[in-house]
Parts: sequence; C-alpha cells; structure tokens
Amino acid sequence: MINNKKISKFAISIIEDLQKNKFQGYLVGGCVRDLLCGLNPKDFDIATDATPEQVRKIFKASRIIGRRFKLVHVFNRSELIEVATFRSGEISSNDGELVKDQSGKIIRDNIWGNLDQDTYRRDFTVNALYYCPKTKKIIGHKDGMRDIHKKIIVSIGDPRKRFSEDPVRSLRAIRFSNKLKFKIDTKIKDAIYEKGHLLSSISNARIFDEFCKMFLSGMAEKNFNKLNSFGLSKFLITTEPEQNEFTRKLLTESLRNTDKRLTNNQSVTPGFLLAAFLWPQLIEKCSMKGDINLRKFFRSMDPILRSQQRITAIPRKFHSYIKDIWVLQLKLHSRIGKQPYKTLKHPRFRAAYDFMLIREKSSGETKSLGKWWTDFQKNDENLKKSLISSLKEKSQHESFKTFGFSQELR
Ligand code: ATP
Ligand code: MG
Repeated sequence: MINNKKISKFAISIIEDLQKNKFQGYLVGGCVRDLLCGLNPKDFDIATDATPEQVRKIFKASRIIGRRFKLVHVFNRSELIEVATFRSGEISSNDGELVKDQSGKIIRDNIWGNLDQDTYRRDFTVNALYYCPKTKKIIGHKDGMRDIHKKIIVSIGDPRKRFSEDPVRSLRAIRFSNKLKFKIDTKIKDAIYEKGHLLSSISNARIFDEFCKMFLSGMAEKNFNKLNSFGLSKFLITTEPEQNEFTRKLLTESLRNTDKRLTNNQSVTPGFLLAAFLWPQLIEKCSMKGDINLRKFFRSMDPILRSQQRITAIPRKFHSYIKDIWVLQLKLHSRIGKQPYKTLKHPRFRAAYDFMLIREKSSGETKSLGKWWTDFQKNDENLKKSLISSLKEKSQHESFKTFGFSQELR
C-alpha cells in the first residue's frame, strides 16, 4: 500500500534503531495520511513507547524539547525528525503531568501510554494511523482507513470536548480539509461554531505557527475563505476583511499571490503577508481627506504591529521587514531626482514593488505607478532618465493625492 521509497531514509533508520533497542517505532500522523492520499509528506513524525530520555540516549544528535508536550528532535545534517512518546491522554494517577484548566483546555500532556491509548488522544481518525516500514502494516484508529477512502475529516470522540481540550483543532480541521480535499464531518462543523471562540485563549506563539501553516502552504486563499465562513479569521488577523471592498480584495490578492509563488517555487515570508494584511489599518489611521498625514503614518506603525502581536506573536526579525515594506510604499510614490535610484537599491525593493502591484490591482487604480516602476527596473539608463523627466511636468505633490490612498479607503 505504502511505497517505502517515498519515506525519508533517515526516518526509517530511526525506527530501525528504536526497534534494535527493543522499543516500538512507527511513522504516524500526517505523513502516513499524506502517503495514503498520494501526497508527498512535508515531514515524517515517529511515535514510540520509549520515553524522551530513552530516545535521547539512543541518538547522539538529539534534543528533548517542549514542556507542554515533551518530545525529542532527532537530527542529521539535513533533516529533523520528531519522535514522540505514546501518550495515554487520560488523567490516571494524576501526577500532574496531564493538566487541564477550568474550560477543559489541556495545559500539559506528558503521561505516557501505549499505542492504543495514543491513538485516541490524536485529533482526527485520518491522523491516527501508524505505519511500520518493516512489516509494511498500518494499524491505529479503526476508522482511519475508512475515512481516508470516504475523504472525510472525523473527530476522535466528541469534537466539542476535543475542541475544548485544544481549540487549535478547529483550525487544523479546516486546514486538512482543504489540503486533502476532504469534507468536514457535520459534528465537527457544529463544534467549530460552538467552540471556535476558545481560540482567543491560545498563546500568540502557537497562533503564529498556525498562521504560517494556514497561509504559507499553498492553500492560503482557500483556507482564508473557509476560515471566514466559520467566522474564525479574527483569531488570526486583526484586520476585518469585510470592512470595505479594497480590504477584502487586498487580502485575497495577497493570499493568491502567496499561493502562486509557492506553485512557482518562489520564496514566501509571513512578513509580506502581515504587511499586506495590516496595510488597510495603517492607511485608515493616517488618511485625511484622501491625502495621507505622514506623521500619523509613522506613528501608527508600531501600535498596529503591537495589536497584531497580541494574537500572533510576530518574531522580531519581521518587524523591520514589515515597516520597510510600508515606508517603501511612500517612496515608490515620490519619484524626484535621485530618489527612484535609491528606492531601487533598497534591499526590500522587490517585495515593496510586488506589494504595490497588489495594491494597484485591489484598488482598481489605473494611474500606472506599477507600469512606471516595471519600466524603471529595466536595464536601460536612457529609459530611466526619460521616465523621471516625464514626471517633471506633473506636480510631484499630486501623486500622493491622486494615487491609491483615496481609492484604497472607499
Ligand atoms: P501537517 O504536518 O501536514 O500539518 P500533521 O497531521 O502531520 O499535518 P502535525 O502538527 O505534524 O500535523 O502533528 C502530527 C500528528 O500529531 C497529527 O497527525 C496528529 O495525530 C497529532 N496531533 C498534532 N496536533 C494535535 C492536536 N492539537 N491534537 C491532537 N493531536 C494532534
Ligand atoms: Mg506533520
């Protein structure tokens, strides 16, 4: 059923080493599911009955990580494999290793168990299959295979309880249904409506991880639409997508752009998407009668980033990236003298230019700033000079007033 050639050799060697040491070792979760669906897994996770400390002893290049959910990273030069110990998912002796809060949310889950128990603490039936590369047998949740064939995401146990334990599961259901082109079981849909609001209790670091998985895996536009249909986008983005037509289009276009880049094997970064998502807030804050107030523009950048930070921790390195993209939008408008040459040399020029094209597309603006910059990048000094002088006749100040910003606020 599963072709071992599609599996990372390193992952297989880890399983062999676990077995040599008299432990169990299986590929589990997303990689088994993806292989069964004919997709290439993005990573390979392993489950074992060895404790993290025992795993750590077997593999020299390994590290125990996590507190809430302890596991071992085993690595070689090019790969990193997560090895997780079977969990029971039950409060048994209650030695403080499985902790829930008042709402039933799991705060810590480090009670070891056997494979059967481990199956039931997983989120969805299709994610609870275990594969042994040696025997080539698949075991685990009894409905897993059936649901893969039926192409449906089904919760293990009552989804209302499971989503209370961990609200992120509702985001995962949405993501997997788009990735696999599976339906979402009705009980899960109801649970998302009922329990989705609990996402506000998830740490901003974890939401940032989900943000990246949601929007940087080639399914951004679809995921965004489905999130919106469940009313969940507000747990990932502080901008209200429906606040005006420009905002809705800008969000959609930037997500579509990200998907397209991934299809073309181009790089993507959460910084670009965040710059795009938050832009409507920035121009809203600084616009005065269709013109922009520069002082307000610069002063609003940090507060807008901070409010987004509260829901998705934005790693430091992206802050200056996002602000560069924003400030470069102004620079792209002012094309006096040597300024366009400087702007062109800016390390973030390309990203800022891409974003400006997206803004143009979304505002229905036809004043051709995009065209101007597309030409200005051409390796043709005479063309550059004539492009700059063609602007001299027009008032430079006008460019702020007439381009974009007023259109973008409608
Ligand atoms: P992908 O890696 O493609 O996003 P995945 O299913 O491998 O999908 P991971 O986050 O890598 O997702 O998790 C691996 C496995 O661990 C899952 O398949 C699932 O069995 C289990 N798992 C992960 N997160 C949760 C969760 N929040 N609740 C229950 N089980 C989970
Ligand atoms: Mg995975």
